[in-house]
Amino acid sequence: MAEVQPSTQSQPVDQSGPSQARPTNPAPDSQALVVQRPGQQGLRRYLYSGLVAALAVSVSLFRFGTSVFPFGASLRADDYAGRTRHVLSTTPLIDGHNDLPYVVRQELKNKIYSPRFDFAGALLSHTDLGKMRSGQMGGQFWSVYMECREEGVAQMEDATWVVRDTLEQIDVVRRLIAKHPDDLQFCVTPACVRTAFAAGKIASMIGIEGSHQLGNSLAVLRQTFELGARYLTITHNCDTPFATSATSVAAGGADGGLTPFGQRLVAEMNRLGMLVDLAHVSPQTMRDALGASAAPVIFSHSGAYALNRHLRNAPDDVLRGLRANGGVIMVPFVSFFFRTDDTGGASIHDVADQILYIADLIGWEHVGLGSDFDGSDSMVRGMEDTSKYPDLIQLLMKRGATDKQIRLLVGENILRVWTAVEKHAQRAQSTLGELPIEDVWDGREWSHVHDADLPLMFHDSKKERREAY
Ligand SMILES: [Zn+2]
Repeated sequence: MAEVQPSTQSQPVDQSGPSQARPTNPAPDSQALVVQRPGQQGLRRYLYSGLVAALAVSVSLFRFGTSVFPFGASLRADDYAGRTRHVLSTTPLIDGHNDLPYVVRQELKNKIYSPRFDFAGALLSHTDLGKMRSGQMGGQFWSVYMECREEGVAQMEDATWVVRDTLEQIDVVRRLIAKHPDDLQFCVTPACVRTAFAAGKIASMIGIEGSHQLGNSLAVLRQTFELGARYLTITHNCDTPFATSATSVAAGGADGGLTPFGQRLVAEMNRLGMLVDLAHVSPQTMRDALGASAAPVIFSHSGAYALNRHLRNAPDDVLRGLRANGGVIMVPFVSFFFRTDDTGGASIHDVADQILYIADLIGWEHVGLGSDFDGSDSMVRGMEDTSKYPDLIQLLMKRGATDKQIRLLVGENILRVWTAVEKHAQRAQSTLGELPIEDVWDGREWSHVHDADLPLMFHDSKKERREAY
């Protein structure tokens, strides 16, 4: 698509942002492959830069080492690499979706203390600490994904293995975080993300990718929240008693949207303070959930349908609804989101196109990043792993994005949404006194309720019990 932002040359460079210092790795030289560095401007530029740098050092020393002087004050608007380093060192880049835990399950059966699993060194997959540091990451929602039993086929109740396996995935994420305390910090609040970032750590959150993983029980939802899960994708690739998935609609199924029980799920998530994630749901479920949610929602990894007619992407009317809702859509880097028929042709430029399209349609306040790294082996060219975020930021700057817009994109939007969700929950629980929702799915079968040796609490229970036999 055409560029939707004005030329960079007239853009002011925003130097605002938190003043906390954070150790950062220099962006890789490979960035030059994406964005051409401007030619040197000669001695005058060196003298000017030197003067500003000396002043910065003086001020920093005066303030006992606290970084109060904006590092980027000397940056030219077209110093994309410098601006990117500055922005990502003062605003946490928070990715909405990473499937490394599933890869760990698949290849290691979750045995992360195995010497083969060199997370601090280098892995062939998209994610390890070295790549994340090169990518200047500040936060990650780790997906505790387990697949549907069969894609496109409704999974109405399966509370045995899938709940166990989801708990195992939560366990492995928490053990992975605990294993790397100098680099990762487990977070269940947006305030924790900022604290972790200020301490130079990558905030680590948990997201569940489908209500089939709950055994379709609101009680299980609450317990996963207690264990630290902070978003639930309403469906993955199968329908559930809560809602219709995009995959089943793509396979020719009817789009039933959010069911009445799904409305209760959204209400309970609002009450708990859990982010409602609409990645993977059908278009009607997106619309229904936007109508049902009393708090802002997210798409943890979804693109714009207008640019690629894939049902995993959000149509324009949904995007406008998202703006009204105050939520955020986090754009992934997997090829099929951009080019359904020619996935090999998708590149970092397609990602930039989608981000700029969404920003133009509904504003920079509603777009973010949700890579889906390690969830597919078909990433777009130029965004092959977690070290590549700075390349994308530079490209967006080259296409006109201001520092302020980039701050919203990389982290401020998801933190704003999460804070709003948290505030809504506090009000629901404290001020309004809302109780946990006890609704169950109509088709639920209860076991072990017919023990004749137990005392009864109510006279009319006898009759029910006799009828049950
Ligand atoms: Zn997914």
